[in-house]
Amino acid sequence: MLFDRKREITVIPGDRIGPEVVAAALKVIEATGINIEADVQQAGASCFEKGIESGVPRETIESIERTKVVLKGPLETPIGYGNKSANVTLRTLFETFGNLRPVRELPGVHTPFTGRNLDIVIVRENVEDLYTGIEYMQTPGVAQALKVISRAGCEMIVELAFEFAVAARRQRVHCATKANIMKLTEGMLQHTFEEIAPRYPQIEAKHILIDNCAHQLAMRPEQFDVIVTTNMNGDILSDLTSGLTGGLGFAPSANIGNDAAIFEAVHGSAPDIAGKNVANPTAIILSAAMMLRHIGEGEAADDIEQAVLVTLESGIRSGDMAGTGKASSTTEFADAIISNLGKDSATRGTRDFRAVRIPESRTEVATVPVYRRIVTGVDVFIESTLSPAELGAAMTEVCEGTSITLHMIGNRGNVVFPAENTTVTLVDQYRCRFMKKARSDTLTNAEILALLTRIGEAHTWMHVEKLQQFDGEDAFSRTRK
Ligand code: NAP
Repeated sequence: MLFDRKREITVIPGDRIGPEVVAAALKVIEATGINIEADVQQAGASCFEKGIESGVPRETIESIERTKVVLKGPLETPIGYGNKSANVTLRTLFETFGNLRPVRELPGVHTPFTGRNLDIVIVRENVEDLYTGIEYMQTPGVAQALKVISRAGCEMIVELAFEFAVAARRQRVHCATKANIMKLTEGMLQHTFEEIAPRYPQIEAKHILIDNCAHQLAMRPEQFDVIVTTNMNGDILSDLTSGLTGGLGFAPSANIGNDAAIFEAVHGSAPDIAGKNVANPTAIILSAAMMLRHIGEGEAADDIEQAVLVTLESGIRSGDMAGTGKASSTTEFADAIISNLGKDSATRGTRDFRAVRIPESRTEVATVPVYRRIVTGVDVFIESTLSPAELGAAMTEVCEGTSITLHMIGNRGNVVFPAENTTVTLVDQYRCRFMKKARSDTLTNAEILALLTRIGEAHTWMHVEKLQQFDGEDAFSRTRK
């Protein structure tokens, strides 16, 4: 036992099936005999309904600040409440930048992949990417979202993936990205991965395109060990991998940050089965085991994982498992696990697992130094119903007598002026790219403001993006013809 006095953890029962499965997990933790005290706090639907805008009350935040460890049930955001889910609020508030989602073949849980000994961990970046939730309606008919990927964020998630691989004695880390299309955002994860990988020579490092990764997961999933990926890719891939091994009822997860860690099942609140005592508690019980390992209670974690295996080997099945025998209720399933604590699985030994070194977040503002930067041009997004030729003529006129030239006009990513592409469906959001005539000179703020003023006299602009060069490299995407 690690702690002489009780180790306090924050427990959020959550919504619908949440309280049922969290109660089962707490009962199992208690039965291991370790010294833990649960500080039960609320978040989710009931809090939104009470008028708490974030869905996370102050007392819950204070409890997490104190305990630094959370066992959490699924949370709902009722329709009409909150512009951010309570889950996203918790993840961003405590900057739990890494989401570990392990899945493995389990005895008695039959899937089309049974016998292939799957044992895969998705390491998902958890706070950046399209999930920053920065979205705009550019025109009444065109929406735009910002995909924010930082070098600092990539370093932290890649290091976490390798550190986890080392701690869990894994052999291989794949980095899955869409770097062939999104060269700057997804490409940043690939490049960071390729730079950091040589620091871990004992781990095999491979880059794979995300679409091929999905295909390979369906065809030959046994080739994967640890997969590190961006937020949205990871969200999708981890549901896929949980499907390979028996479904959401068996998929645990850990949200890891420097100041706090939140342990939860991958599944949601499953309203269709709530209140019936039929939900499978395995995912949250395995999440609780991850939590115990995180706080240094590795023996209790091993004990719980072994008891889950022994229970499944004994033929007991939860309602979401294939089979015809009578399914155990949530409480019966948890009681069976408790009765198997201290027993060893016939199929799998305990893992040799060291503590994971968590990459430190920085207190200073993260920056990547460059020696020379210039602004070579500017993209101005304009709402217009003019044809590309008409808008092209108008923007060419705007540039007359200035140091700027109209380089191209795009619409939905296609160049429609000057090389007019007549086959694309046009919308009322045009991207007009202006470049400095002398490419080695920098475009000044005054020149950009003067350009916007001239455009604004006859047109509606709503978004401006500087085109920069860092140390001679274009820091913007090329145009697509
Ligand atoms: P879900 O709650 O994960 O449920 C999808 C289906 O999976 C259920 O209808 C049920 O299917 C099955 N399932 C999930 N967990 C199970 C368990 N423990 N035991 C047995 N079966 C289980 O997904 P959803 O319906 O898309 O989401 C419902 C709500 O949860 C939404 O409000 C969503 O926003 C929220 N959510 C929260 C989190 C979180 O807090 N981290 C995550 C995801 C979703 P059958 O009964 O049909 O077999």
